[in-house]
Amino acid sequence: MLGTRLQRARKAAGLSLRALGERIGLSHTAIQKYEDGNNVPDSATLLRLARALNVRTEYFFLQEEVTLETVEYRKRSTLPKKRLQAITHELLDLIERRLELESLFAPACTRAFEPIEGLPDRITRWDEIETAAESVRGAWQLGLDAIPSLVDVLEAWGIRVFMVDGDADQKFDGLAAHVQGKPVVVVGRHWPGDRQRFTLAHELGHLMLGGRLAEELDEERACNRFAGAFLFPRPAVFFTLGTHRTSIEMKELSLLKSEFGLSMAGILYRALDLGIISEAYRTRYARLFSMKGWRRVEPGPAYPSEEAQLFQHWVLRALAEDCIGESKAAELLSMSLLQLKEFRIVKDEHAALD
Ligand SMILES: [Zn+2]
Repeated sequence: MLGTRLQRARKAAGLSLRALGERIGLSHTAIQKYEDGNNVPDSATLLRLARALNVRTEYFFLQEEVTLETVEYRKRSTLPKKRLQAITHELLDLIERRLELESLFAPACTRAFEPIEGLPDRITRWDEIETAAESVRGAWQLGLDAIPSLVDVLEAWGIRVFMVDGDADQKFDGLAAHVQGKPVVVVGRHWPGDRQRFTLAHELGHLMLGGRLAEELDEERACNRFAGAFLFPRPAVFFTLGTHRTSIEMKELSLLKSEFGLSMAGILYRALDLGIISEAYRTRYARLFSMKGWRRVEPGPAYPSEEAQLFQHWVLRALAEDCIGESKAAELLSMSLLQLKEFRIVKDEHAALD
């Protein structure tokens, strides 16, 4: 157990046996022996290993080995293997802490994920994807308005959402996997909100549409269509943009983006997919976006990033109800006790003005 975890942490840190050995003043064969389980480090060595690998010492002793099942990285991902390992490592750590909290304190507010009833077994046309997205919204009682927090919606319906920091690399495009049979979706914590939401809704598309799509419908495209339709549903598009347009103001796109959390480019696709604008008109707009560098960063206000606060809520709730103590809460939140004390304070802004 210790050996496997040591190896995982070393690979996540991108270190060779020799490099790790050098950092803590041991030979590469000594490290190899720990990893193979042929030798066990004493507590002082363990502490040095933990420091060199930037993990908590508890990390080496966690009982349950969590693995990602059926991992799907977004197709255009060209992430180097090392970076992917680092992200996977960060994710496994988040998942372990989450599972540990759930084992200590099980909030009854979430249910197991299941595809909703009423979705057709076979989807053969693009407009059926629109209907499918509306059915999911209907079953989840979301109406047709904008969804303020997509993370909360997914969590409430049994999809665990994790946000990783290891996303400085633009190439990481999110991933979906199963852990202990339950769906998990991962996005970058610092991405703009519209990118996070599109990725989350796209992965929801895979979960809802998987196995139902006719061969002529490409699954990636279908999930993109689902994502757009879920975030900005057909009736809302017609209500705001109308049914036929020869021109759309840039400001309209910007305002709709702020309201629905779908990128301006995504909104133009909605207008095209629903037959509101012509392909030629969308292409003209797309060219302008390329020329101005707006495909990377769109003009106008950015949509705020989503926040995954549920975990913090549950840790605080478990703490308030004495299910866990302060040190366990600090460990779960990856904070020192001092940081936890700071974190728990709600400042009285008015008092500060006196
Ligand atoms: Zn996909």
